[in-house]
Amino acid sequence: MLHSDYRPPNPAPSEDLIARFAAIVGVRYAIRAPAEMARYLDEPRDLFHGKAALVLRPGSTEEVAAILRLANETGTAIIPQGGNTGLVGGQVPHDDGTEIILSLGRLNRIREVDAEGGTLVAEAGVVLTAVQNAADAAGLLFPLSLGSEGSCTVGGNLSTNAGGTAVLAYGNARELVLGLEVVLADGRIWNGLGRLRKDNTGYDLKHLFMGAEGTLGVITAAVLKLFPKPKAVTTAFIGLDSPHAALALLGLARQHLGAALTTFEVVPRIGIDFVLKHGNNTRDPLGEPHAWYVLAEGSFGDEAQAQSGTEALLEEALEKGIVADAAIAASEAQREQFWGMRHILSEVQSREGGSIKHDVSVPVAAVPAFIDAATAAVEALIPGARVIAFGHLGDGNIHFNVSQPVGGDKAAFLAGWDAVNECVHAIVAEFSGSISAEHGIGRMKRDLLPRFKDPVALAVMRQLKATLDPNGILNPGKVL
Ligand code: FAD
Repeated sequence: MLHSDYRPPNPAPSEDLIARFAAIVGVRYAIRAPAEMARYLDEPRDLFHGKAALVLRPGSTEEVAAILRLANETGTAIIPQGGNTGLVGGQVPHDDGTEIILSLGRLNRIREVDAEGGTLVAEAGVVLTAVQNAADAAGLLFPLSLGSEGSCTVGGNLSTNAGGTAVLAYGNARELVLGLEVVLADGRIWNGLGRLRKDNTGYDLKHLFMGAEGTLGVITAAVLKLFPKPKAVTTAFIGLDSPHAALALLGLARQHLGAALTTFEVVPRIGIDFVLKHGNNTRDPLGEPHAWYVLAEGSFGDEAQAQSGTEALLEEALEKGIVADAAIAASEAQREQFWGMRHILSEVQSREGGSIKHDVSVPVAAVPAFIDAATAAVEALIPGARVIAFGHLGDGNIHFNVSQPVGGDKAAFLAGWDAVNECVHAIVAEFSGSISAEHGIGRMKRDLLPRFKDPVALAVMRQLKATLDPNGILNPGKVL
């Protein structure tokens, strides 16, 4: 299922039409040279490759509107692209070369920071770290945080409804948005850049475009919510026996820290082994190895609260035998070291040969049972397969990745991608979970969606697509 059966029906743009598109942005921002185009055609995992007739880099919302108007009139397929860090191939064109990539990177202005109102207006192409930095400069926090934050963009974050490591406290990307500016498929600009915290005047349209992966409209700007910056943060690396112990610790952490608990990530020992083997300047986070680890972070109003809250939590967890050992970061450098180990897990895994990935969620209380069942099933299917189930336990979202057996053949292992997916997704379904927790559907899971989505929900999604994009020009063959 890695590559969907979709074949683009849209016509290839003629030379004359390509010239009309190029004239909208100016030839300098209309890319056709293969060497310049290359970086828009592949994605980080090297799983999806495409070809495009043209890459357009508009410099304003009005230019985006003119491009979509022309595309809609001529039935030309448009693939919106931000930082090109998406993991399901949604931003990559198909390989027949008829589609046009709309790269939003030049819409990179932060239009406004309102510290009093706690809002920031960013254009779609602003890189996530630039938003975080602008909030920080205003004495505030923009909490969305992902491993790709140095290159992913606001438009991509909202279009994928990105998750990341602070969802537990602040929610997914869609919960961090007050308003949107969107260009519709026919070129109309919807100015929905409201800053209202309350507005019950009918359907809340912004939620249609978030998580739509560029299939319903092109997001050009957003009003983002800013939060008070915590005065003190504690970060702990905790060794324990099993995901069951991690779940018990999560319950205890909620009792002790309440809303101050901002991150609760789980990592198996094999992940730490990979980090120690392939990472730079890494060392074992605790004296002795443990079967599982939790990376937990709390954000507090003051230092005393931070210390007492975290220490009381760990004391009780140690007393109850839930955790075996723990280290609290004593400096910013140690905090960064802890986070560094978490952030490079995907990267180091790729150094161990082929890896078959799953971004799944189940109800939080079911995570340990899901990990046990899926691990047993995958190990029975491929003897020697190495399961690395890590991620956002606090959100019920596990990256259930499977590395090839040591010394095995990478191509032969990856040929089993569909079979491994089938096996894991069947267990996800048993636990009433989701086959895509935070990365989206894109091309990768398009053909799977009808099997896992409620049929009525799927039919309504198709009706919405037909209403908002009747000519099927926006990211065709993605999601639906
Ligand atoms: P792109 O990859 O360019 O596009 C993603 C999708 O959005 C595509 O379907 C595209 O067509 C659409 N799109 C882009 N811009 C617009 C726009 N302006 N209007 C309409 N549609 C648009 N994701 C998580 O959720 N949580 C994580 O923890 C996480 N960690 C990651 C770590 C690494 C190392 C990497 C490489 C990726 C990770 N991701 C994660 C996935 C990815 O970074 C996110 O999906 C991110 O939000 C994509 O942003 P982007 O700007 O790169 O979008």
